[in-house]
This record gives sequence, C-alpha cells and structure tokens, in this order.
Amino acid sequence: MTPPIALTVAGSDSGAGAGIQADLKVFAALRVYGTSVVTAVTAQNTRGVHDVYPIPGNVVGAQLTALLDDMPPLATKTGMLASGEVAAAVTAKARAGLLPNLVVDPVLESSSGRRLGVVSAIERLLPYALVATPNCEEASALVGWPVATPADMAGAAGQLAAGGPKFVVVTGGDLASGDEAVDAMWTDAGVRFLRYPRIATRNTHGTGCTFSAAIAARLALGDAVPQAVTFAKQYVARALADAREWKLGSGAGPLDH
Ligand code: PLP
Repeated sequence: MTPPIALTVAGSDSGAGAGIQADLKVFAALRVYGTSVVTAVTAQNTRGVHDVYPIPGNVVGAQLTALLDDMPPLATKTGMLASGEVAAAVTAKARAGLLPNLVVDPVLESSSGRRLGVVSAIERLLPYALVATPNCEEASALVGWPVATPADMAGAAGQLAAGGPKFVVVTGGDLASGDEAVDAMWTDAGVRFLRYPRIATRNTHGTGCTFSAAIAARLALGDAVPQAVTFAKQYVARALADAREWKLGSGAGPLDH
C-alpha cells in the first residue's frame, strides 16, 4: 500500500520548532508520509533568527522535479520561500498542475522581525493555492491596509480569495484579543469565524507552520477543506497546551507536535 504523501516546501529551522522540521513532525504525528523541499537554511534558536541562507532557485527546482516524478504528493504546503527565484521555481510546478491541494502559508517575517519572504513573489503563487493561511500581519502586507479586527480579517480574507485561493483563513492568534483566538475563514459560501479559548504561553514558535502543515496532512488524508481547517485549529490548540510548561531555550519555545 502507498501511504498518503504530503510535501512541505519551506525553510530549515535549526531549532526545529518551525519550518521544515515542524512540518515533518506534524506529518508524522498525523500519519502521512512527509517529503520536503528545502528553500533556505536558517541559523536560529528560540531567541530568534540569526542568519538566513536562501537555496538557489535551480536547486529548489531540482528537489521538486525529483519528488514530483517519483513520489507525487496528495497535498503540499509552502512556508518560507526566501527569494523571488525560489518562489518562481515553486510557482512553475504549481502552474503545471503538479501541486494539487496546495496550502500557501505566506510567510514574510519571523516573530523576531527577520525577513523570510517577498510579497510580490507570494502574490504570483497565490492564484494556484487551494487554501491560503496568512496571519494578520501577512494579510495586511498582501491587501495593503491594516488588518487588526475580526471584521478586517473577514474583509482581507475575501479580498485575497478574489485573487485565486478558494479558501482563505486569516489567523488571529497573534492579536491581543482577550480570552479567545479568532480566525476568519473565507469560503465561497461566505465568511465563518473559528473561535477557540486562547492558550496563554510564551511557547508559540512555529504556530503558523504547524497550522498549515496540519491542514495539508488532513487534505492528503481526504478531508474537505473546512474539516481540515477545523481539525488543524484543534491540533494547534492541543500542541500549544501540551508545550505550555516546556522550558526549551530562553525565548519563544516550540509546540509539542
Ligand atoms: N523559521 C522558519 C524557517 C519559518 O518558516 C518561520 C515561519 O514560518 C519562522 C522561522 C518563524 O516562526 P515564528 O514566527 O513562529 O517564530
């Protein structure tokens, strides 16, 4: 039997809380076979990203070609794309129809403020996404106006969906919004708000990566998008809660995948 394959196209996090390492942990936990295309090597720990070394676009293209030829994924997630040439290599495969069930996490900056992606390059990939999962800052950068309330999140999700992705989930976990974490999910049936009790913890590193990887894993297992998103939201909440007391490093620690 062939296990369902999910692919992550993302950056390496030496601290293994975000990026490729987080994605592969999520895939393993959710019982899909994870493959990976590395877009950048980052030197980082829980305190932040020290250095970023993008992988050349042709090397990213070669990794994709090798995998798509022999181990085609049922779902793919993209995270940090690092440069315009890396994003172009991924976009070429998406345009050729080789990346079904594509989840685009439009990573632009680390929480510590380091640039990890480029708006114009992500904009070229978004039309091929089935699902896009920006946080509020990323949504703001993509739509060109501030996204700071649930109403803004709903508006931004609709505006981004008009550009291609069938589903857009603007995540609100980063907003200081009281006892609840609220996400806005745009579907062609309108906007739905997903609410969850906020989990107070400093260990939030890799939350966005974990969310988009869990969506891709569930899509590879055959879920419809709304079910995959609801599952992923609960998965992230559980992973945050389980790592709440962890002391790994002196900064923002990882989740318990
Ligand atoms: N490093 C890599 C490789 C990432 O892909 C990301 C986010 O996508 C980060 C770091 C930043 O993670 P966070 O903002 O959760 O600390």
